[in-house]
Amino acid sequence: MSARILVVDDVIPNVKILEAKLTVEYYDVITAYNGPDALDLAREKSPDLILLDVMMPQMDGFEVCQRLKKDPKTAHIPVVMVTALSETADRVQGLESGADDFLTKPVDDVALFARVKSLLRLKMMMDEFRLREETSQDLGVLSSEDEESFIGQRGRILVIDDNDFSSKQLRQVYEVDYDVTIEGNLEEAQVLARGGDFDLAVVSMNVTSFDPLRFCSRIRTFEETRQLPILTLVEDSDTDRLVKGLELGVNDYVMRPIDNNELIVRTRTQVLRKKYQDRLRHNYHRSMELAVTDGLTGLYNRRYMSNHLETLLVKTQTDIKPVSVLIMDIDFFKNVNDTYGHDVGDDVLKSFSSRIGKSVRGIDLACRYGGEEFVVVMPDTDLAVASGVAERLRRSISENPFSVSSGANSLEITCSIGVTTSMAGDKMDSILKRADEALYQAKRDGRNRVVTTAP
Ligand code: GH3
Ligand code: MG
Ligand code: MG
Repeated sequence: MSARILVVDDVIPNVKILEAKLTVEYYDVITAYNGPDALDLAREKSPDLILLDVMMPQMDGFEVCQRLKKDPKTAHIPVVMVTALSETADRVQGLESGADDFLTKPVDDVALFARVKSLLRLKMMMDEFRLREETSQDLGVLSSEDEESFIGQRGRILVIDDNDFSSKQLRQVYEVDYDVTIEGNLEEAQVLARGGDFDLAVVSMNVTSFDPLRFCSRIRTFEETRQLPILTLVEDSDTDRLVKGLELGVNDYVMRPIDNNELIVRTRTQVLRKKYQDRLRHNYHRSMELAVTDGLTGLYNRRYMSNHLETLLVKTQTDIKPVSVLIMDIDFFKNVNDTYGHDVGDDVLKSFSSRIGKSVRGIDLACRYGGEEFVVVMPDTDLAVASGVAERLRRSISENPFSVSSGANSLEITCSIGVTTSMAGDKMDSILKRADEALYQAKRDGRNRVVTTAP
């Protein structure tokens, strides 16, 4: 993960040490020796992360942080306060000025890289999220109405701890802002994690009834939990297991005795990243869905149907199983619009589509082919079966009037249907053309009927 990191400290050796450590890990490091320079560099070079010393002459780290967070050009850059004192008061003040995390001097490598990686992951998620948002909005495929509210939803935390006392304390810290589930049994914890839709697993390394690292490693192997962030709670003497955990994919840790402020910030970072990540995935699926479906009716669109039919036809050549296709067109639909208005017309199209959807099998594909024309593709179906389906559809439309929202009227709607089936070496265009010809025959014969045509 290459990223640009701004290191700010008034003491030259401090800057040099951090610069050297980060450069070895291939980070692109830029440096500043006072607050004002740091602010300028942050604006100019858009770093992905800022490591900020607290005690500096002129302008201290708290003030720099406040200014960074106020400026829209730099507000989204994560800031880690680097403080010589491990005073709680300092940490609180740091958080109040908008810092995302803190490190205590002398900075040890494990802590440095754990925090840097954790915040960079969050930043990448947020950047990607913003980018996708823009694209989606430019394309008009996703609305931004509920985009902000997902961050505000209560996060869900799974605590793995078999000690009554410490789990009670954790519950107290968390229950204000999160839904907390506590579990002390390995198997149960796994089941919960896999099914529980959690945003974070907090794992106590002091669990005695099983090896908590085993839980961490399993979480990373199951498909459903691979992306679940893990935060471990470790004794400060337990560096070996801390490092092993980080190697297994643990995202962050808090040392015992637990400083609640620290626990809260680290938890917030992990939960936030998980939420962005889930949202990105959700939006991805949603845009895929929007790209293949028709906005008004929710049926597949013409492009998707064409691709699907092509694929089926290639398969049919080896399988000798026929694909049948029916095209339906609403009779005198223009009259509906002319008499009741376009909105009522839209309602009819929606109900019509939902009736089609209900009348076909799961493997059949229903699509809106054009204005008031629909196509159903039926794999592995011969002409006799297909015309049976068409006849059933025709009757379900004509025998059940459509109720519409405006007025007490219910409308009698009929449709005409053309049916055909594939033969060896058939092309998509010729199948659709045959079905279309059958449809027009049905219109000419007086509408509200099914016409079947063999290849
Ligand atoms: P026929 O029995 O020959 O099919 O007659 P028709 O009136 O159904 O056929 P025509 O092709 O003349 O008219 C189709 C109408 O469908 C015209 C068009 O305005 C309307 N239409 C197409 N798309 C939509 C839509 O999305 N919403 C609404 N309300 N009407 C639509
Ligand atoms: Mg029509
Ligand atoms: Mg038409």
